[in-house]
Amino acid sequence: MKHVHALAFLPLLAVFAGCSGNGGTWDDGDGGSPGDDSGTSDDGGTGDDSSNPPPPTNAPLATGLSVTGVTVDQAVEVSVVKNGATATQNAPIVAGRRGIVRAFVTPGSGWSAHAITGVLTLHTGGQDHTFTATLTPKAASSDGTYASTFNFNVDAASFGTDTTYLVQLKDPNGQSPGDATAQWPNSGTPASLGVQTSGVVKIYLYPILFSSGGGTPATGGVDVNAYRATVMNLYPATDVQITVESAITYTGTIPQANGDYWDQMLNWFTQYYRYKNSEADVYYYGAFAPSSSFASFCGGGCVAGLSNIPSSPSNGSQKASIGLVYGGDSQDQQATGQTMAHEVGHGHGREHSPTSQSVQGCSTPSGLDPSYPYANGAIGVWGYNLNSSQPVDPAQYYDIMGYCEYDWISDYTYKALFDWVAADNGADMVVSQTPTNYRFIAVKMDGTLEVGGVFPVYGIVSGEPHTVTFDDDGVERTEVGYFTPYDHLPGGSILVPEPAHFSTLRVPDLTTRTLLKP
Ligand SMILES: [Zn+2]
Repeated sequence: MKHVHALAFLPLLAVFAGCSGNGGTWDDGDGGSPGDDSGTSDDGGTGDDSSNPPPPTNAPLATGLSVTGVTVDQAVEVSVVKNGATATQNAPIVAGRRGIVRAFVTPGSGWSAHAITGVLTLHTGGQDHTFTATLTPKAASSDGTYASTFNFNVDAASFGTDTTYLVQLKDPNGQSPGDATAQWPNSGTPASLGVQTSGVVKIYLYPILFSSGGGTPATGGVDVNAYRATVMNLYPATDVQITVESAITYTGTIPQANGDYWDQMLNWFTQYYRYKNSEADVYYYGAFAPSSSFASFCGGGCVAGLSNIPSSPSNGSQKASIGLVYGGDSQDQQATGQTMAHEVGHGHGREHSPTSQSVQGCSTPSGLDPSYPYANGAIGVWGYNLNSSQPVDPAQYYDIMGYCEYDWISDYTYKALFDWVAADNGADMVVSQTPTNYRFIAVKMDGTLEVGGVFPVYGIVSGEPHTVTFDDDGVERTEVGYFTPYDHLPGGSILVPEPAHFSTLRVPDLTTRTLLKP
């Protein structure tokens, strides 16, 4: 489930200087590298470079200033160097995803405040990519004040798994050689940035229409691009691809704001889409608009989405969610994108983060992740919104997998999503092109069971095991079925391999009832 809301924006706290790493950047001397000989002037024109020209190639390191921290923000702040020592990274740095590198400084007793040029050199794919930022440090940098750090705006291509980095603080008017502590590593030898590969998140969006009543989900290009931007902003991926499929028609009851009839539609959709595709790394999203406007459906609060929670990335048969899809203005687009990020997060195996109704703007979900590390579902570390170029304050924002008005993503959820996205894009996701037939058994909210259709599965089925006993004219046979829960409603569904013949089935550890084959 997902609560929906409008996102409030924080004031702009920082101005970023820097330039792209692809040619036209300042060459900081010492021979450079092949292919980085194009010039010595900036063609980017961002920031305040014009009033603070770059240091000459032989500018010395600053005196009285130390680099004591380095972070990379691609959605959540990842510490690379902290308090003057190499840090254990709290979340992954993602190859092929743009981000902000921040250098934290601590002035020493010999420091007098004046403008310094920070130079970040990332060596990726055999080339130096050089970025600059100018700052007049007045005190030790702090996490929450972006204007207190050297901030480098790094393009996606400059982050690779082979990337090494060197941060240098150069003083155009300084005395050579300056302090070795004004660079990190202090040795001047670049160090690995520890960048890792995740990959692409693929979402197939199915517009769902109702045979009677309901509205039409907003699945045009402008709206879908807006949803995509919201999901991409939060996910540790190189790209989020949303493919709009042909509309399908649901003949059941339209889901209600209070949560009624959602499980029936998700069960239908889960069984529907698998007949169409065999890609285990794809997320299926049933997009619908139960009424003509979001406000008319959700004015008094509402359920906005429902998802299965598969137990492993290989379990492609359960990567299905349904959610409200309203567009047309930025507020509804934002709400739809956040609902999608939350529901597809369940599709990535995430349970709910423990947000709390004791916090203003939040409520308490069911189905909590017992391992979540931060009280009240807080995000834990500073974040950075690449869409709006705004920092995200951990004192004001809560995890996307909880229920809060102001949500972002914690480093914990980000890392968990990264591991799952990487698995989705790994070689182990190759699945059979020949499906195995499974029988779908709905476990309803009141605990009763209902036998559904036959379900072709191309990959692995996993989840909580339950023995299912099939009866074929008095001859019994047992198979292990696997239960996948819903994200916030009681119940879920069981998939069990289908024997060639049977007339009834039982799930003895859930009910004593015998169920007829439909
Ligand atoms: Zn949920």
